[in-house]
Amino acid sequence: MPADSAHAAAYQALCDHQRETAKLASILGLLEWDERTKMPPAGGEYRAEQIAYLAGEIHKRRTSPQVGQWLDQLADSPLAADPHGDAGTVIRELRRDYDKKTKLPQALVEELSRTSVIGQQTWVESRKADDFQKFQPILEKTLRLKRQEAAALGFDKSPYEPLLDDYEPGAKVSEVSATLAGLRDALTPLVHQIVGSGRRPDSAILKRDFPVAAQEAFGREAAAAIGFDFSAGRLDVTDHPFCGGAGPRDVRITTRYDKNDFGDAFFSILHEAGHGLYEQGLPAEHYGLPTGEAASLGIHESQSRMWENQVGRSREFWELFLPKAQQAFSSLAGVSLDGFYAAINEVKPSLIRVDADEVTYNLHILVRFELEKAMIEDDLRAADLPAAWNEKYQQYLGVQPPSDADGVLQDVHWSAGLFGYFPTYSLGNLYAGQFFAQAASDLGDLHAMFRRGEFRPLLDWLRQQIHRHGQRWSAAELAVKVTGKQLSHAAWFAQIRAKYGELYGL
Ligand code: ZN
Repeated sequence: MPADSAHAAAYQALCDHQRETAKLASILGLLEWDERTKMPPAGGEYRAEQIAYLAGEIHKRRTSPQVGQWLDQLADSPLAADPHGDAGTVIRELRRDYDKKTKLPQALVEELSRTSVIGQQTWVESRKADDFQKFQPILEKTLRLKRQEAAALGFDKSPYEPLLDDYEPGAKVSEVSATLAGLRDALTPLVHQIVGSGRRPDSAILKRDFPVAAQEAFGREAAAAIGFDFSAGRLDVTDHPFCGGAGPRDVRITTRYDKNDFGDAFFSILHEAGHGLYEQGLPAEHYGLPTGEAASLGIHESQSRMWENQVGRSREFWELFLPKAQQAFSSLAGVSLDGFYAAINEVKPSLIRVDADEVTYNLHILVRFELEKAMIEDDLRAADLPAAWNEKYQQYLGVQPPSDADGVLQDVHWSAGLFGYFPTYSLGNLYAGQFFAQAASDLGDLHAMFRRGEFRPLLDWLRQQIHRHGQRWSAAELAVKVTGKQLSHAAWFAQIRAKYGELYGL
């Protein structure tokens, strides 16, 4: 066979293999969605076996030596010449994934997975008993294993690099650290000013009576209004909201309802619908290939945060939706737009990340990012973690956890071995701010459009600028390509400063 047709055949075989693996992975996605929404509790044991079996088969296919041979064969081929073309993107990203998965010794992979299961069990018990010392030994073990993982994967300066890279492919630790330090230094004084303003919105209006059926109907209406396609998606109930999927035209979002809390379900629906819009906007014909997959967790989160915050917490959105909400919920009768807008944007430094508002949320993330990076780099011992945690909460948020259960033990991530995950939440906020500013500069007054119920221009812009590219560009490259600038906190912070300056009279 001439070289070019041999290359074409290898590329075709590689893509066919990937697409077949994607069938297994999408079946796994469906099983996981079912487990978290519909499955009877007694089905759990066998479901765990089904999931472990499929996950094993998927791993085998992705690390098959045959994949390595195809990739070797294609490495210097004309197909790989343009790293951002269709084939170049597929070859580059599959190489990255293959190398990462095959560099880790099998014994280490098994030890990491066992430790993650025990870690999460120990975390549940330690949190319940409010006992960090009970958790400390398994945390120390997890840190040792994660450093071994980093060493096996290789890094330049910091062992945190290859761990962050799992969630933000190609991200540089030095750049992410500088970006987030800029965010911290701008945000901390603003939060202190907001607290010092003495203004307190009446957020009790959001804790009145909101019948669940009406919440669901209203949430569906809003998700459909921003463009979520219910002919290619669903909304269901779960304990911890997520967005999953079972195929290129089957995107599943979830929420949970509390009949005495309007915001919890409504904003989680907008958030998950934002994730869902990204999934629905990825090119279906590339499903299963890197060109049909999300660029990074940070970019994914930028889409959910933009629809939740820049759109869903704007005054203009509620100029349109508050009258509809007042028809749906008699408990909102007489509530003014100003009062409602202030209530859904209340800023209140608190102890718990998952309950935090749009502004202080990032400071919760900064605490975790700085501490996990220090632990992985061996600059902070696990034994000193609770004291370091409490000190940073005092410094950044001005609050002091009364217990480790409501402090350092509140999140599952570290117990499960997820190091490098936390910063993607804040990167998502910053990407959202920077993309939104660019969209406004390209499209004109977006808020005036929201007031009229016109969300399509923004969605089309996101589809064109971000969704259709899949993994063609890394997150950092995408920022430069779309906005002409590297990611920074500037655009997001300017939006926050303006919005909350007005709300809190600063
Ligand atoms: Zn999210």
